Amino acid sequence: MAAVYVFGGIMAILIAAVIFAPLLEGRWREGMDGASAAGRKEAALAALRELEFEYQTDKVSEEDYATLRNRYAREALAARDELGETVQQGSCPACGAATKEGAGFCSSCGGALA
Ligand SMILES: [Zn+2]
Repeated sequence: MAAVYVFGGIMAILIAAVIFAPLLEGRWREGMDGASAAGRKEAALAALRELEFEYQTDKVSEEDYATLRNRYAREALAARDELGETVQQGSCPACGAATKEGAGFCSSCGGALA
């Protein structure tokens, strides 16, 4: 009979995860929308640095890393656009750091370079 309780427990956790994950995501988005462009840029860059660290320490999969990095880089870029910061040739569109010619990714924040 114990198996029934284990199964029930697992189901409850799965259901809770399905219900709460979008709520948490939504709260994050709301916080982002309420923040100033400068605040959102800082938050996105902080998230990029955090993600980079987690990736280096094998806490996120390659796939999650790529997805999240693109999302945060887009967020940072949108905030920079709003701030009227121009993206200069030879600089990262997300964080503005100088980039090496022909580099695929920013060495500062890890964002993809066009
Ligand atoms: Zn960068």
